[in-house]
Formats: sequence, C-alpha cells, structure tokens
Amino acid sequence: MIWDQLTSPEIQKLGRNIPVIFPVSATEQHGPHLPLATDRMIGEFFCKELNKAITDKVLILPIMSIGCSEHHMGFAGSLSIQHQTFLNQADDVMNSVVRHGFKNIIIFNSHGGNLAAGHILMEKFGSENPEIQVVLATWWKLASESLFELNESGPGGVGHAGEFETSLMLHFAPELVKLDLAEDIKNIHGYDWAEMDMLRGAKASIYRSMKAMTSNGVYGNPKMGTAKKGKQITNLVINELKNIVADLYNSKLV
Ligand SMILES: [Zn+2]
Repeated sequence: MIWDQLTSPEIQKLGRNIPVIFPVSATEQHGPHLPLATDRMIGEFFCKELNKAITDKVLILPIMSIGCSEHHMGFAGSLSIQHQTFLNQADDVMNSVVRHGFKNIIIFNSHGGNLAAGHILMEKFGSENPEIQVVLATWWKLASESLFELNESGPGGVGHAGEFETSLMLHFAPELVKLDLAEDIKNIHGYDWAEMDMLRGAKASIYRSMKAMTSNGVYGNPKMGTAKKGKQITNLVINELKNIVADLYNSKLV
C-alpha cells in the first residue's frame, strides 16, 4: 500500500505490525548518460515493484528525494542537504509514523552519500525508540552476493552511474538513458587502498569530490549496462526486501 494514497480512516484500520518503508534517495549528477533523478527513480521503482508483490503487507512512505550529495556539487544540477538536515527531516518523518502506532520501519536507501547519515539515523532512532524495529537497507548491499555474479565489468565497474545503475534505468526508463554518451571511467586519480564500488569496500576511506575523481561524473562502466541485467538486479533486490518485510511483519519482538 502507498501511504499517501490511502485515506486517514483506511490507515487507522491497518494492523500496526505492517512494516513501513521509508525511501531515501538523492537528486544529483549521474554523468552525461543518466538523469539527475536516477537514485530517486531507482528507489521509487523498487518500492513500486515491492508494492505489486506484497501490497497488503507493506506501507510505502513518500520518498525523500534530496540527500547528502555535497561531493557531487562540482557538477551542474546536483542538489544537496547537510547531514544534520537529513537526520532532522528523516527523524521527524519516522517519529510521525511511530506516533500513529506503527512498530516496524525500513529506511530504504538508494544513494551512497546517505550511508553515513543513514547509519546514524538508524542508531539514534533505534536507541530512542526501543519498542520499534528500525532497519537500514541499501539496495546494492541487500543482495551483494548474488549481484557479484551479474557484475561483468569487474572491480570499479559498478560505481556511480556505472554498470548496475545504467542497467536498472535501461530496464524501467530506457527513454532517459543516453547510452551513446556512456564512457568507461574507473580508478582515476585514486589510491589503491581507497578504491571501491557498490560491491567492494575500500581498506580506508578518503574524502574526494567527484570532480576530483572523474572527468564526467561517472565512476564505473556504464557501457556494460543492459536492460536484462536491470531486470535480474530487480528480482534479486525485491526478493531480499520481501524477506526483511516478512521477518518484521511476523516478528514477536514488538
Ligand atoms: Zn546513483
């Protein structure tokens, strides 16, 4: 069910164990071949698919469509809010949900720049609301083992606007993908110990703006993106999400 498409009396009647999905995303540059809305569209698409699969057992909140994207601001069109703004807004939304009696919240993230603030949000909210189960799920981490098998571009290929994000957009919004402008851009101005992508963590982290890392805002190989892979990624992610929703829904912990 979609939260804001129900009426207030309809929400009132629902069981309070139904997990509430809170999608958080970003509006930022995705190179010359993908639109600024890529992270938001991916988050919304997964939510729509999840809702189709288990509509009675899940409630989906309106998406937070601007996230922590300071490192993308060197590229035109990117929008960003500060970590504290993200925390304040998300915390307020989640508190509203809890005030209506719901017991399970899944923060569903589709943007790497929200990871740090997302963890703080989960830890802070969880410790302040011990009667609530709060989960942070980022789509590419949900199914990373099976996603590895789909990765044809190798290390660095599934970074920002790379193989996976391009595949997903080709799957559900091909009219917005300018594949003729896609370039393979990896490991530029980098340190070996800081290299990472959606599937591989780095030994250590260093702050770098995207402008300092890549010439066109892409970090990965979008040329390896296919619509077929986008559909496979979707199935893997939705299956994992369904598991989490079912576990929370059936949980006796709350
Ligand atoms: Zn993205």
